[in-house]
Amino acid sequence: MGFKVAIIGRPNVGKSTLFNRLVGKKLALVDDTPGVTRDRRVHAAKLYDLHFDVIDTAGFEDAAASTLPGRMRQQTEIAIREADLIFFTVDAKSGLMPDDRTFADVVRKSGKPVVLVANKAEARGAQGGMLEAWELGLGEPIPVSAEHGQGMPDLRDAVVEALGEERVFGEDDEEESGEIAASEVLIGEDIADPDAEAPYDDTKPLRIAVVGRPNAGKSTLINALIGEERLLTGPEAGITRDSISVDWDWRGRRIKLFDTAGMRRKSKVQEKLEKLSVQDGLRAIRFAEIVIIVLDATIPFEKQDLQIADLIIREGRAPVIAFNKWDLIDNPQELLSELREKTERLLPQVRGIQAVPVSAETGRGLDKLMESVIKTHKVWNSRVSTGKLNRWLEGILAHHPPPAVAGRRLKIKYVTQAKTRPPGFVVSCSRPDAMPQSYVRYLTNSLREAFDMPGVPIRMALRTSD
Ligand code: GDP
Ligand code: GDP
Repeated sequence: MGFKVAIIGRPNVGKSTLFNRLVGKKLALVDDTPGVTRDRRVHAAKLYDLHFDVIDTAGFEDAAASTLPGRMRQQTEIAIREADLIFFTVDAKSGLMPDDRTFADVVRKSGKPVVLVANKAEARGAQGGMLEAWELGLGEPIPVSAEHGQGMPDLRDAVVEALGEERVFGEDDEEESGEIAASEVLIGEDIADPDAEAPYDDTKPLRIAVVGRPNAGKSTLINALIGEERLLTGPEAGITRDSISVDWDWRGRRIKLFDTAGMRRKSKVQEKLEKLSVQDGLRAIRFAEIVIIVLDATIPFEKQDLQIADLIIREGRAPVIAFNKWDLIDNPQELLSELREKTERLLPQVRGIQAVPVSAETGRGLDKLMESVIKTHKVWNSRVSTGKLNRWLEGILAHHPPPAVAGRRLKIKYVTQAKTRPPGFVVSCSRPDAMPQSYVRYLTNSLREAFDMPGVPIRMALRTSD
């Protein structure tokens, strides 16, 4: 995947041990005596689904030196310059030493992304060293035990966090989608999302599109949401064919609403001519993070509604359903449970989808609708740590392991989350091709339930474990 990691730290913190753990072979010499001279080498390393190169910097040290010798410092600086990411390693057992701070300064000055590795965290008394490590100003220390292989899931997540998903997975994306095998996995066009690596941020405008069949009430809904005054400012205020979005805020939350044709006040003639074309619909969906599907509650689900929903899910967007014209319904309780049941059955790919009764005309239910939009947006952005995922996987493997195919049991090694918006997971397993769809579906549903991710598409990619 093309990034280089340099393991930096003072002598004896466990750099070689960590190097060996990542490279998986006994390549670097490990020695209790600092100063065993070794060459700087670069080796292919693996941390779950992450593949990268590690520069071995162990052994730069000079046995006799109590301060940092020039050569060592020089070598370290070269390694730092070459690296895309630095594992700044400290010894949590012994606590910070003056050299740690000296090295940390060099690292900080380089401006390179850093993961602060607090090694020997399994040792008694390591807690104090962990806390001390914060003082280096290199972020949160990740407790690991290079010797015992502990803390590796968190180290993996820290790498993704430090470099960003784009950088870590970007180039390999094509390959990855080639291995996708689940039915609810969205093959085909994957829209590169510029915000893909961002954690949930409620200061950025949330992008919404409103779609639905003609006459479902889209224009009325949008007008009700953004308020009449906005529309009354009319065409001269820049609501033209070219403007694609309208900014507005709901309870202080910034929203960008896709400006579909329906948003403009139009003459009756124009209205008839200007049906929202498929192309416009697709454009709206791609623009959006959350897509509100407006259904006319007086008319049952139609094929077209499902096609729209399917398109949204395929594009990796999260749908929220508005059952509109609720003011016309006389058996609301009954109809709502019926419609929700139907929705769940027809859209199993987004189990737990938010579906809210509203009246665009009276304004009832619109706050609830917006709350559902924001809730869904949070889920769409959610991230599960590798540690949690693999504890969940342990339970799955204990109670409902993958079946045997042609007499051989399929094995799953680990699961990681490779993407958000929507959540995307990579399952590393022995024979991806042989894994039954039904089992992948089971994994997806179980994962959705375990980590409370209702209503959003979840992508699941299978990958060969090597
Ligand atoms: P380097 O000089 O930074 O490359 O450190 P080494 O990898 O040579 O390790 C120095 C010493 O720390 C060796 O005795 C290792 O066995 C020991 N060590 C490395 N990792 C750990 C760990 O996770 N826990 C404990 N308790 N000892 C470790
Ligand atoms: P669009 O084609 O999806 O943009 O639908 P419109 O917003 O133009 O609405 C179509 C028709 O449904 C209009 O006559 C609206 O007045 C009516 N309508 C929209 N929302 C509601 C609602 O909540 N209740 C009722 N009773 N009528 C509505």
